[in-house]
Amino acid sequence: MFKKILIANRGEIACRVAATARRMGIQSVAVYSDADAHARHVAFCDEAIAIGPAAASESYLNIDRVIAAAKQSGAEAIHPGYGFLSENEAFAAACEKAGLVFIGPPASAIRAMGSKSAAKSLMEKAQVPLVPGYHGDNQDPVFLQGQADQIGYPVLLKASAGGGGKGMRVVTRAEDFADALSSCQREAKNSFGDERVLVEKYLTRPRHIEIQIFADTHGNCVSLFERDCSVQRRHQKVLEEAPAPGMSAERRQAMSAAAIAAAKAVSYVGAGTVEFIANQDGSFYFMEMNTRLQVEHPVTEMITSTDLVEWQLRVAAGERLPRLQHELTINGHAIEARIYAENPEKGFLPSTGKLDYLHMPQAVQFTHGELRIDAGVRQGDVISPFYDPMIAKLIVHGKDRAEALARMAQALATFQVVGPATNVAFLGRLIASEPFVSADLDTGLIERHHDSLFPEPQTLPLSVLALAAASLVASPSPSPSKGEPWAQLSGWRMNGTYQRILAFSSEAGEQPIQLSYRRDALWLTAGESAVAMQEVSVNQAAVQVRMDGLQLQGHVVRQQDIFHVFHAGHHWQILWRDPIAHAGEGEADEGRLTAPMPGKIIALLVSAGERVVKGTPLLIMEAMKMEHTINAPGDGTVSELLYAVGDQVDEGAQLLSLSVEVA
Ligand code: ADP
Ligand code: ADP
Ligand code: MG
Repeated sequence: MFKKILIANRGEIACRVAATARRMGIQSVAVYSDADAHARHVAFCDEAIAIGPAAASESYLNIDRVIAAAKQSGAEAIHPGYGFLSENEAFAAACEKAGLVFIGPPASAIRAMGSKSAAKSLMEKAQVPLVPGYHGDNQDPVFLQGQADQIGYPVLLKASAGGGGKGMRVVTRAEDFADALSSCQREAKNSFGDERVLVEKYLTRPRHIEIQIFADTHGNCVSLFERDCSVQRRHQKVLEEAPAPGMSAERRQAMSAAAIAAAKAVSYVGAGTVEFIANQDGSFYFMEMNTRLQVEHPVTEMITSTDLVEWQLRVAAGERLPRLQHELTINGHAIEARIYAENPEKGFLPSTGKLDYLHMPQAVQFTHGELRIDAGVRQGDVISPFYDPMIAKLIVHGKDRAEALARMAQALATFQVVGPATNVAFLGRLIASEPFVSADLDTGLIERHHDSLFPEPQTLPLSVLALAAASLVASPSPSPSKGEPWAQLSGWRMNGTYQRILAFSSEAGEQPIQLSYRRDALWLTAGESAVAMQEVSVNQAAVQVRMDGLQLQGHVVRQQDIFHVFHAGHHWQILWRDPIAHAGEGEADEGRLTAPMPGKIIALLVSAGERVVKGTPLLIMEAMKMEHTINAPGDGTVSELLYAVGDQVDEGAQLLSLSVEVA
């Protein structure tokens, strides 16, 4: 076995490969771009080597630099992960030339399957069923249109060299063909440097079912059964599961045989996936073969109790497959959900930014436990625009689909992210949706159920308002681990009942609340409802409120004006227009600044007669145990300070006067 391998990838897959290497006592070497110097995969591997600037083309895709890093580190083999150089025939060849083992199939197999068109011709010869269509060399637009007319609309145009759902166009009417063809060719040329396309019958309501195969150099080739990846957006997988619901033993056998025939036709070695598109009646056609480990390989590992990366390493080192076909069985059901930094409400557009807060559920045993999390990031990391915006993969296993689904719901409910937009809430709705629960699967599921998957924003429940209010009144604490005892709010009761209005709003509209400090409790009034909050405790993001004999728990993370409240599996965002933070806005004309609520002056930052410019900090007030700086609303001169440090001020009190210069 190898002593040291280099992982030519980043993110979760680099971490995942390194985890197996570690378990097998193999040293791992990470490579990283400038953007990834502090990435999790760099910290996770035993060594790390910088390979260039952020742009993937100058780092992770730079064959010479990756090979040089491997040589420098003394690694004997390179694991390419998926994406990047994993299906690059030149890279596989370059490894060989440099005396390094490429942990993947032979370059010839990558080449054979690299073009969807050529692969289809090959499969035709191997008698693997194909989607009706044209996949030949003739790229004349008139000829291709003739083929489409013959196949019958709708047809699908695909980039022969395509991948990742890119370069595909559905054409429903003959008159749209020419335009769709030129735009498909353009995208194919831009994304893959190859404008060749193929035309296929576009199946309606199909399922995406793929077979995981594995071959060694001793002539063994097995099927590790199927994965159903029908739930997609933009022709890209969102949820994957194994086994495929409704799969019969005969159909599994037939699909496995077709996949093994495909692999044998190209003398395949290593992990590969043969993707099929299946009709609702079960008939299936070859779509393409991915000559690498796949993003969704964990569901297969869960149901077969295997570690496919270990298998890859063993096969690459010349060993036999750890298990043969008769030793492989399916145990239970597994589901994977891909958590992306993206905005489902805005057409699933990727989102970027710092992961200000990241709380993931606790994994229960790696590779074949109940809950597995493959993540490439930690709290504080940045989802950059340079790479795939995946945050993590959640993988669950259960004795059956219902149990796996319940675990997934639970895991998603405790997955909390503040920073970029994510699809976590969307995934929660998706796995609870009627079509998914009843396994009524096809690739159009998300589009067809768009309305129920994207409900109107809901008004904030009282519990959520209470958690936000509690976090506001009880934090920040000087020692966050201890939290702020409720008793410390007593100061606010000295003048009897004190009331405060918080201008809360959410996507569903404005929802101001009123807090009344009474002897017995802090009363919260929202609309028609009122509730007494008897005890509040805050421990970092965790907030507890006792109200009406009920113990309410949640997590609240504040980002400037926004409260992110995580409660009962939901992520609510509350916008708070803080009157103190905004004090002075709109008051510039009057040249005076008033206290929008009672508080204590804790610092005066200017003196009478001093000139200030817009934004100059004037004084600091403390209210509700939080400091607020009051800034000059415009350029001017401080005419008079009306309070001293330590003074309590009432709501509406004028704090200082400023003569504002009129431009
Ligand atoms: P598949 O479904 O074939 O496993 P995906 O749909 O997950 O592949 O992704 C398509 C392509 O997107 C992959 O072949 C890979 O190039 C790229 N990709 C997806 N996720 C990542 C990632 N985390 N890091 C690098 N590349 C990725
Ligand atoms: P990629 O290389 O981008 O993964 P694929 O050929 O695997 O391209 O197709 C991606 C997805 O597009 C499939 O999973 C399926 O949802 C859809 N698709 C592909 N071919 C067809 C087809 N002939 N009819 C309907 N949908 C298709
Ligand atoms: Mg595919």
